[in-house]
Amino acid sequence: MWEIYSSNNEFIHNGVQTLPGIGPVRQKALLAANIETIADIILDFPAKYVYRKAAISLAECEDGEISTALVSVEKVNFHPHGRRGTIRVSVRDNSGRATLIFFTSPRWMAEKFRPGEELLVWGAVRIEDGIPVFQHPEFEFSSEGDEKIIPVYRNYKSLVEAKIGRRSRTKLVMEAFKNLGAIEDPIPEKMARELGLPTLEKSFRILHNPENWKKLELARRRLAFGELLLLQIVFSIRRRKAGLDKNAGPVESGKIFEAVKKSLPYRLTSGQIDALKSILEIFRSPGCSMLLLNGDVGSGKTVLAMLAASAAVDSGLQVVVIVPSLLVSRQHADLFADLTAQFGVSVGLLTGESCSPGLRERLRSGEVDIVIGTQALLSPKIKFKRLGLIIIDEQHRLGVRQRLALPERTGAHVLMLSATPIPRTAALAFYGDLEPIVLGEFPSQRAGSKSFLRECSARETVWDFIGERIDAGERIFVVHPKIKGKDHSAAEYGFCEFDTKYPGKVALLHGGMSAKDKNAIFQKFRSGTRPILATTSLVEIGLDVPEASVMLIEHAENFGLAQLHQLRGRIGRAKKRGYCILLTDKSRGSRNWKRLEKFCKTDNGFEIARLDLMERGEGELLSHAQAGRFDFKFADPMRMPELLDAARKLSENIISGDPELSLDKNIGFKRGIDYISKSKDIIQSAV
Ligand code: ADP
Ligand code: MG
Repeated sequence: MWEIYSSNNEFIHNGVQTLPGIGPVRQKALLAANIETIADIILDFPAKYVYRKAAISLAECEDGEISTALVSVEKVNFHPHGRRGTIRVSVRDNSGRATLIFFTSPRWMAEKFRPGEELLVWGAVRIEDGIPVFQHPEFEFSSEGDEKIIPVYRNYKSLVEAKIGRRSRTKLVMEAFKNLGAIEDPIPEKMARELGLPTLEKSFRILHNPENWKKLELARRRLAFGELLLLQIVFSIRRRKAGLDKNAGPVESGKIFEAVKKSLPYRLTSGQIDALKSILEIFRSPGCSMLLLNGDVGSGKTVLAMLAASAAVDSGLQVVVIVPSLLVSRQHADLFADLTAQFGVSVGLLTGESCSPGLRERLRSGEVDIVIGTQALLSPKIKFKRLGLIIIDEQHRLGVRQRLALPERTGAHVLMLSATPIPRTAALAFYGDLEPIVLGEFPSQRAGSKSFLRECSARETVWDFIGERIDAGERIFVVHPKIKGKDHSAAEYGFCEFDTKYPGKVALLHGGMSAKDKNAIFQKFRSGTRPILATTSLVEIGLDVPEASVMLIEHAENFGLAQLHQLRGRIGRAKKRGYCILLTDKSRGSRNWKRLEKFCKTDNGFEIARLDLMERGEGELLSHAQAGRFDFKFADPMRMPELLDAARKLSENIISGDPELSLDKNIGFKRGIDYISKSKDIIQSAV
């Protein structure tokens, strides 16, 4: 979290125990939830808000999901056990009935529920005998026209145990606000006003206690703007530094490049030729360049990276290729070595987590031209003779946060490859420090794939189909949401079942295995000794097996759409048409069925990315917690293009006028950047 500064700094940096009502027990519980100081109380914003319009109908409730419903009370039962008892409240809406259950609760609580009263309830749902059951849900009495927006905080185990619930949280926040003083706002008031945004302090208050949607939206936008701005400032600084970097060696393609290009077993598509031209042109210009090569899965980025690497070797530079997993690093090393070794290029592979002394020495002496491995390669401990190009493959795996945390290597150009086809606004927001190059075309020989959604009852038929495909010499991926378990959602279970049906044909591969085993198993699959691979989402990225034609995804509802798209990118890569089959036990017409159906209907990565973003943005509860992949808490650049533009312009202005952020008026930004550079928790700031 970002630190707050106020005119009463001493107070806000006090421990929570200085607030009334916080004894050692509650203090400990708060600490376990990362809430140490009074500032932390303010900065731990509600994770979501509940309100009447967010309610879904009872008929739509699904087992195991967290839902909000608007119901009226029909009947209340209290079964006493000693001084307390079990409360069962029968409720209904237009679509059906549900039961709310509260165990070991006092009688007065039962008496609060009166037949006919309206109730907003939210919590986890179990379907029992066809009826949704909410166990210990949260609830508020509500009535028509009630626009109340109820903040819901993260549910920490320690807080639940210490009985610090929603209402106590609100009390704490109110106490904290009492003596807060004036909060310093790094964004000049005039600018905030021009953008129609409230001050930082006001935004804090609104987030914890929103009067209405409009204000809440503005407060969220204020914090979003802070996040966007801070990141854009970081980008501006990086771009500026890179452009001025005098150590950068120009990359000029030469003999090796030409020879590798000639030896490719296919012709480059015109899209690849254009992209390659842009890459080389930019690398030739003075200063360091940072590029983002963006192309859908299977569009042929890897070969371009290899050609760029060859050109760098031509220019006497060393190249580091960072890949997301050891399997991919082995695959890339083989590919690079196959194509370049004959021209005297030396390719090294970093296996395991640490760099072997031998490899280390050969990197330092400049004996190795291209080295492939995981992020460990960028550690400052590893020295190069003349590192000139860093290639980062499958960049989407690396959030903004990890990317910024990569140690800087002066003098080296950067080429990032990303298979997440993101729209321009998102590209600017997340990769504003990189020059985008788009690879828009697929190799024409690529057959592509078709996707199908089936109920679990179709499993037998699908398995028979898989039998036909392996007889035809093809390879099959079977992807499971988890490793262990007693049903088809587990890779180990799937492996056993397949092995009974197709003995000796199946291999099991998952993240719980050692790197060595993984490699050995994967080679058996690739070579066709064991043409069926029972696995997990481990195979999502980067793997290239031309014979792979079928991907069966078990319990597909457990995967995000973007992830499914990456997964199916593993098949249909060569001349054989791919079949991606999603199995689900969700019923036709359910929300999950519908989203998977949409997925099957399009193979456009951009469309999938859009659906995926929408999916994460909506849902019955409006949520801040978008963090995850993109690292922002509040910003959603797809929906805030004008804020992003404003942030970009402003960051350029700030940095061109004060490149070191040394002026007094920029102290707030300086603190933010310092905070980023020393914190693991990067963009989770609340400027
Ligand atoms: P990605 O963009 O997902 O990294 P790859 O670079 O792995 O894609 O390429 C996908 C497959 O297409 C590989 O098997 C690669 O050898 C092949 N390929 C790449 N470029 C071409 C081309 N111009 N013509 C035919 N096949 C190609
Ligand atoms: Mg690739």
